[in-house]
Amino acid sequence: MSVVTRFAPSPTGFLHIGGARTALFNFLYARHHGGRYLLRIEDTDRQRSTAEAIDAILDGLAWLGLEGDAPPVYQSQNAARHAEVAERLLAEGAAYKCYLSAEELDAQRKAARAEGRPMRIVSPWRDRDPADAPEDAAPVLRIKMPQDGETRIQDEVQGEVTIGHQQLDDFVLLRGDGSPTYMLSVVVDDHDMGVTHVIRGDDHLTNAFRQHHLYKACGWEPPSFAHIPLIHGPDGAKLSKRHGALGVDAYREMGYLPEALKNYLLRLGWAHGDDEVISEAQAVEWFDLPGVGRSAARFDFKKLEHLNGHYLREAEDARLTEAVIERLSRDIPVDDAGRARVAAGMAGLKTRAHTLAQLAQDARFYLERPQFPLDNPKAEKLLQGGGAAVARGAGEALAELEDWTEEALEAQLRAFAETHGLGFGKVAQPLRAALTGSNASPGLFELMVILGKTEVLARLLETPEH
Ligand code: GLU
Repeated sequence: MSVVTRFAPSPTGFLHIGGARTALFNFLYARHHGGRYLLRIEDTDRQRSTAEAIDAILDGLAWLGLEGDAPPVYQSQNAARHAEVAERLLAEGAAYKCYLSAEELDAQRKAARAEGRPMRIVSPWRDRDPADAPEDAAPVLRIKMPQDGETRIQDEVQGEVTIGHQQLDDFVLLRGDGSPTYMLSVVVDDHDMGVTHVIRGDDHLTNAFRQHHLYKACGWEPPSFAHIPLIHGPDGAKLSKRHGALGVDAYREMGYLPEALKNYLLRLGWAHGDDEVISEAQAVEWFDLPGVGRSAARFDFKKLEHLNGHYLREAEDARLTEAVIERLSRDIPVDDAGRARVAAGMAGLKTRAHTLAQLAQDARFYLERPQFPLDNPKAEKLLQGGGAAVARGAGEALAELEDWTEEALEAQLRAFAETHGLGFGKVAQPLRAALTGSNASPGLFELMVILGKTEVLARLLETPEH
């Protein structure tokens, strides 16, 4: 049997980081087993399923390279098919029309609360003669769930899980207006799409029991289920906004690379020995469900940043230059010369940054002169107590230099330091501050060559008194 997995998000306005991990696990499981990975947009809540909300999810998936192997299935388009399956179950006696009124349901809810037991709908219409049905009432269609015994599921992550049937009520398949419920739509679509493995968050575990029965009632083979633990924040509570960003788009904006985020999400709840940096090819080779842990994984922002730094250093300079220019050109003009400087400086810049946002900030001095007073207090301090004068003096000494190479610059600045009885650091540090506005930067001689003589002299000679 060839493996078919799917990711089935409901549009919520963005691709949730937990959803991205679910998509990744489905993608890797399918690739590992030589199967197919499909996408289904569960857009039955028409209010929430705006074009923007759907695009946000598709954009996030495209950015991560997790688009499905076929165009997405839109669940809302299958409503007629879902209703047809429900009608068949009705005809076969596996489902019934239920006329319980809102008041009657409310009374059941109150009674359950008073007795301190969980609410479980009991409908008299399960066994009642449909001829007794009230007129002009629009019934819902409920499945007949078994009333005794228990169901056991061999979940590929959770292991064997069992539920007593007294905990499951006759859930609704079709609402009063004839629209299908989530429970029905998911099962019919998964069956029709040939899904063999349902890998999703463990918040859906109890649904699996209901869905299992629905498969059986339809005469279909249920898929394998794998319910993966949800992601928690560093404090152990379910990941929420107060821990940090939840949407993949926010991580993209903060300057994480898709391969870094994927590597991070892969390790969040799945392990292969002690390996931390795992390429996509290795992930496809190694990923399987037994490696997924049963307890919730904690989101570790530092670890994500660390991994991102690694992938930034591995990334092609040209790609990073594009990304940095895109960011910087949002608020400063970038011409060809500026772009060329950033490109030339990229190898030196990327060794230091952990995100694209930082990389862009670090590259900024290649495009614009530092503004005084500097907003970096450490750099500002380097120019105080004579530092600014050293920068201007060095500017004068460099004005005579013809050969604008790293070696010649070094020799000239060392000579300048010696003449003034200064340690080399006492020259290099204020120069760095005057040229870049920062106390940390790529190699001084390298950036001086890239900035060029005219620009370096202008910056040094115009360093204001501090
Ligand atoms: N649409 C559901 C959700 O976003 C997932 C359904 C499923 O995976 O079965 O939570």
